[in-house]
Amino acid sequence: MSLTFTSAIQPTIGHEIMERLHLLAQYTEQDGMMTRTYLTPAHRGAAGQIAAWMRDAGMTVRRDAVGNVIGRYEGHNADASVLMTGSHFDTVRNGGIYDGLLGILLPISCIANWHKQGLRFPFPIEVAAFSEEEGVRFKAPMLGSRAIAGTFQQSVLDHVDELGITMRDAMKAADFNPLQISAAAAPRDSIAAFVEVHIEQGPVLLNENLALGVVTAIAGATRYMLELEGIAGHAGTVPMHMRHDAAMAAAEFALFVEQRCSHTPELVGTIGQWTVPNGATNVIPGRVVLSLDVRAGDDAQRLSATADITTELERICTRRGVRSTLKKTYETSSAVCADWLQQGWHASLERNGCTMRSLPSGAGHDAMAIASVAPIAMLFVRCGNGGISHNPAETMAVEDATLASDVFMDFVEHFDALNKNTV
Ligand SMILES: [Zn+2]
Repeated sequence: MSLTFTSAIQPTIGHEIMERLHLLAQYTEQDGMMTRTYLTPAHRGAAGQIAAWMRDAGMTVRRDAVGNVIGRYEGHNADASVLMTGSHFDTVRNGGIYDGLLGILLPISCIANWHKQGLRFPFPIEVAAFSEEEGVRFKAPMLGSRAIAGTFQQSVLDHVDELGITMRDAMKAADFNPLQISAAAAPRDSIAAFVEVHIEQGPVLLNENLALGVVTAIAGATRYMLELEGIAGHAGTVPMHMRHDAAMAAAEFALFVEQRCSHTPELVGTIGQWTVPNGATNVIPGRVVLSLDVRAGDDAQRLSATADITTELERICTRRGVRSTLKKTYETSSAVCADWLQQGWHASLERNGCTMRSLPSGAGHDAMAIASVAPIAMLFVRCGNGGISHNPAETMAVEDATLASDVFMDFVEHFDALNKNTV
């Protein structure tokens, strides 16, 4: 798709980014939907197009064994540690076209601008287009960024997709060598900082009428599967006081989760799955299975909440004569954004006339994986449509893309890793 411009309107850098976001959306597995999962033909096509744009912008391009596409814009000093930026180019099924891709295409357009002017920096800049972040095809997220961080878990190579193909075989079929994954890890201290530009994927900036925000931390998360077992019985014959209704125990538990997570601003708790196996209209539920997801930017807040929730669960179950089995399925600590990099974003926002706004990220991002090897920071860009994401209705304004580019360029132009200084 090509956007046309009337003579009165000068196309901005935001227009180029928007045009490319729409062009890349053509690389999809499902017609009329944005679906691009790891190592599919659509995924390969997008990688090729991203690499071509990187070369046009004056970068050299390399691929690593997990399929990351890394563009390097050389600096005055080739030995200086790298300012790395980037995001992911896979998507969820029937997702949006901005999630991840903005953080790849925006820096490419900015670098093309500098390249045109012959401008280089004392440090190299690398744009990492991470091959996998969403975890859709093999149920293992952040494969690309973990490979660069050196934290790729070899066990995930045995994961299979819906067709029974192992990740190992899918990699070989796409000409990537699983034995070479450890070589994708960035050498120690080679990354001076990693900064990721990403759409907010939420409604906070939109509600406050702000285009951009600086991320303070990427929330840590704890996930559980909970099974409650009461006694099934006839809905007509068992008096209320004699019941051991598993669904009512679940309801009381869910309301406690909501109440416990409502009084700390950056703490959230969600019960996203809730089933009554073999349930029927005229049967008192004997068994309920539910999921619980608790997140916070501050690990202590999350751990204190999960401790309270577990204690309350025991109390509810004892009182109701219901048995509970709580299994932790996932846990990750929060990743705090480096103060000096946050200050750098704020200074760039100020120089561009933007309100300085900080907010945590409730969603996980590639920066989280890179945090184990380099200081990280993120810039959020406002979403339209109520902030919806992972959905075809995901949107972003061209003016916001231009403003984010101006802020990104300002940030890089003031970046000084040696002095941990960006102003
Ligand atoms: Zn994303």
